[in-house]
Amino acid sequence: MPRIQRLSPSLISKIAAGEVIERPASVVKELLENALDAGSTRIEVELEQGGLDLIRVVDNGGGILADDLPLAFASHATSKLASAEDLFHIGTLGFRGEALASIGGVGQVTLQSRPADQASGAEITCQGGELSAIRAWNGAPGTRIEVRHLFFNTPVRRKFLRTAATELGRITEVFTRLALAHLGVHFTLRHKGKLVHDVPVSATLMDRIGLFFGKDVRDSLYPLQAEHGAIKLSGFIANPACERGNAQMQYVFVNGRWVRDRSLGHAVQQAYRGLLMSGRYAVAFLFLEVPTGLVDVNVHPTKAEVRFQDSQSFYRLVLHAVRSRLQGEDLTARLGVPQAVAARVEDPGNEATSPSGGTRPDQHPAYTGSAVPLARQASASSAPRITGPSPCIPAPWEIPDTNAASSATHPPPAPGSTQAAMASERFNALQLYNTYLAVETPEGLLVIDQHALHERILFEELRSRLRSGPLEAQRLLIPEPVEFPADQAALALESREPLIALGLGVEAFGGGTLLLTSYPAILGKRPPPAILRAVVDYLAVQDRVPDREHLLHDVLSLMACHAAVRAGDALTAEQMAALVARRDLATDTHHCPHGRPTSLLFSRHDLERQFGRI
Ligand code: ADP
Ligand code: MG
Repeated sequence: MPRIQRLSPSLISKIAAGEVIERPASVVKELLENALDAGSTRIEVELEQGGLDLIRVVDNGGGILADDLPLAFASHATSKLASAEDLFHIGTLGFRGEALASIGGVGQVTLQSRPADQASGAEITCQGGELSAIRAWNGAPGTRIEVRHLFFNTPVRRKFLRTAATELGRITEVFTRLALAHLGVHFTLRHKGKLVHDVPVSATLMDRIGLFFGKDVRDSLYPLQAEHGAIKLSGFIANPACERGNAQMQYVFVNGRWVRDRSLGHAVQQAYRGLLMSGRYAVAFLFLEVPTGLVDVNVHPTKAEVRFQDSQSFYRLVLHAVRSRLQGEDLTARLGVPQAVAARVEDPGNEATSPSGGTRPDQHPAYTGSAVPLARQASASSAPRITGPSPCIPAPWEIPDTNAASSATHPPPAPGSTQAAMASERFNALQLYNTYLAVETPEGLLVIDQHALHERILFEELRSRLRSGPLEAQRLLIPEPVEFPADQAALALESREPLIALGLGVEAFGGGTLLLTSYPAILGKRPPPAILRAVVDYLAVQDRVPDREHLLHDVLSLMACHAAVRAGDALTAEQMAALVARRDLATDTHHCPHGRPTSLLFSRHDLERQFGRI
């Protein structure tokens, strides 16, 4: 019969650490929160190896008395909570007194601190739960904490961690959230001695958003302010043209704390309804100030979720505030993106000389469809900065382009050409709603979804090309910076090698910025960053790094989708013929790579029966 025993303190702290400290980013979060709770106005974070080898956080806050240093590492010891009553009025980021105990259980920690009113400071170390004696330390007022060799005594946990780049990405995300929520604090983040972020004390919220997410996002923001009783809402929402493929850029903060809240995210999406296509997400930065009695922050081990009293009223506040702000902007009349954004998207390598007033109508959901050829025409202006094989020579998989600007360089097949002949001999196609092709075939009336079929054909062709080597790439003469949340950028870097095989060259540029160095030639004149965004969105929603095989398959299908003609593109007779003719060349043309049908057949027999001919 196994006997019941008390766990040793070090085992207890390891178990507790498992909940609070999952990875280096959790350490950084807890240390930053402590620095903020201590009233710091200057906080420096330094890392080695994505935080796996070293995390150092230095602040100029209130400090810890020498005698209290051992208590800082005791579990359930805190200076932030005295009574049960306090638990319902938490005004600090930390309150459980568990973080340092947990970190000390799984890392080698040196804590040095000096309160401003003390002539000198003191230090203590904690290695896997073992405390050293307190020693004198002569440093500046504030606290300096170093965590080395995280998980040195829990190798299993260490094994679960990702590459340094991924861990750095997660840390940057944590850093971003706290720096957005705490204005008036100067934050810096260094990795291997290199400055990743420097957020000056004077940077406003909008400045900070610009620093972290780039000019495009900053220039698409609308400020927002609303209140309901004692609850105050402020922040920014972005023009719908700034949409993303996942909800990560919907930031919600409650009393200075970043939280994940599905209900409020849903409220945001609801407010954008009709302005975003399905599967696309708005960008928003929402800050709620809530009397502490109306929100319970003690519901989640890493404090990433909160519970609102009367959550419906929070939902309605967000929904109405965002919706009325969007209505106030009369977005439908504005053809989408702010001009600064448009200029960059269309002609990123040539911002200074780009013609003003350009817009990307195809990014605006209200204009999906008929405006697409316009957008394609605009995007053709990016051609001159491309090196490598001339983009004007149509690749064998291309169907002739639809827009006037390129028809000079993309002559439609001459009347006697094989493609046209093959098609016209066998098929007469009629385009319906600029979306479907109706074709007479010996078996019956074939209705084709032009996008789905083209996508499938491109996918097949790309896949067979890939078997014989990397896909053809267009190198960008001036690599193009594209901004992402840092953890997403890291995902792309982690999959760098298979992406190169697909012609997509990415390099780290620091923070969340990726440099796009080449893109798949198949994308022709479409704006290159769009495919990178699509790939990163895809990676961000995967639970784990897809294996090479899956990644290639999924990204190929994304590429095919991007390169294919779209619903709403008007096609010439030659283009229709070329598309239909190649239907027979591809092996599995019944469904597009996403599994939608590419064509439907109404058999001749059925027609005749329905009309009473047989
Ligand atoms: P909590 O933040 O929940 O109180 P922690 O384990 O994170 O628990 O920290 C324990 C205590 O150590 C805090 O309550 C605080 O008094 C002290 N402390 C930790 N970090 C700092 C810091 N950077 N500056 C001042 N005091 C700190
Ligand atoms: Mg804490």
